[in-house]
Amino acid sequence: MSFSELYGQDGLRRALTGKLAAGTVSHAVLFCGPPGSGKKSWGLALARILLCTGGEPAVACGNCWSCRQFQADGPPTLFRLKPQGRHLGIDQLRRLRSRFYLEGGRQVCLIEEAELMTAAACASLLKILEEPPPGLHFILLAGRPQQLPATILSRCQRFTLHPLSSAEILELLMNKEGLSAEKAQLLSRLCKGLPGLALQLAGDQSFEEQLAGAAEIAFKLAAGGSPAHELLSLADAMAEREDLLFHLELIYLVCRDGLIFLLCGDESLLINPAQARCWAGAASPAGLERGMDLIQKAVQELGATNVNRRLALEGLLLQLQRGFVLCRK
Ligand SMILES: [Zn+2]
Repeated sequence: MSFSELYGQDGLRRALTGKLAAGTVSHAVLFCGPPGSGKKSWGLALARILLCTGGEPAVACGNCWSCRQFQADGPPTLFRLKPQGRHLGIDQLRRLRSRFYLEGGRQVCLIEEAELMTAAACASLLKILEEPPPGLHFILLAGRPQQLPATILSRCQRFTLHPLSSAEILELLMNKEGLSAEKAQLLSRLCKGLPGLALQLAGDQSFEEQLAGAAEIAFKLAAGGSPAHELLSLADAMAEREDLLFHLELIYLVCRDGLIFLLCGDESLLINPAQARCWAGAASPAGLERGMDLIQKAVQELGATNVNRRLALEGLLLQLQRGFVLCRK
């Protein structure tokens, strides 16, 4: 196992391999990147290499005792911490602290969502980082590293994961997951370069249903004629969805498909050609374009602020239907 088994992130791979070969990996490493960008995979791959006793500096041999333990839960020299509830508390670190100093030797402590450490936990970690026992490495994973105290950030060697290109996502979904080219194309458009999200969608059996549900709403609005009370209760139901933003993204993509189909008819650009053909006569390009604008604004608003979801959705649905009707040819 080496970093070559992970997809994309060529710059990160080069940087880490170089530091491992030179023996200059810090005792505190921080991987940053949005959820689904691969922080955990890279963190675990680094842990595996650091704990391997095979003798190669930048590769895990796959045969030593430590490497073999990674096929199950990992060796007992790998300590994993993640928040319990909304925080990662000092007790969780304290329980490990004495073991770090007593046991010695190669050890790795991987901390997920490190930005959720309480101030006391951060202070405790800082103390260890100031006088680290030899052989111990901390690997911190954080989606919002700016929330970590500067005193911790300044002690970490920091690596940032970037979104993958669509070619890299396609390679992952087709070669590793064995998805068809069509489904891989569809997911690569949805996952925004995040391999974790791509894999989650690939494993989600209900995905086709979700897309069909989104299309049903888009076509209903385009048809016009839904009385206001019906749209208000639809807004009510949508406001309760945990996956609301993703659901809106799907409605957006259904409209985008319609727009591409009506404007150029190039089916290679469509996520769902069969569905897109139903837009013929159902809406005008101007109506779809206006709809996409409205959805995009709503996604930004709902994602960034504590707006009243139900009110925002009521406004969105009423405006969408009105826009489709006004823009009819
Ligand atoms: Zn090994």
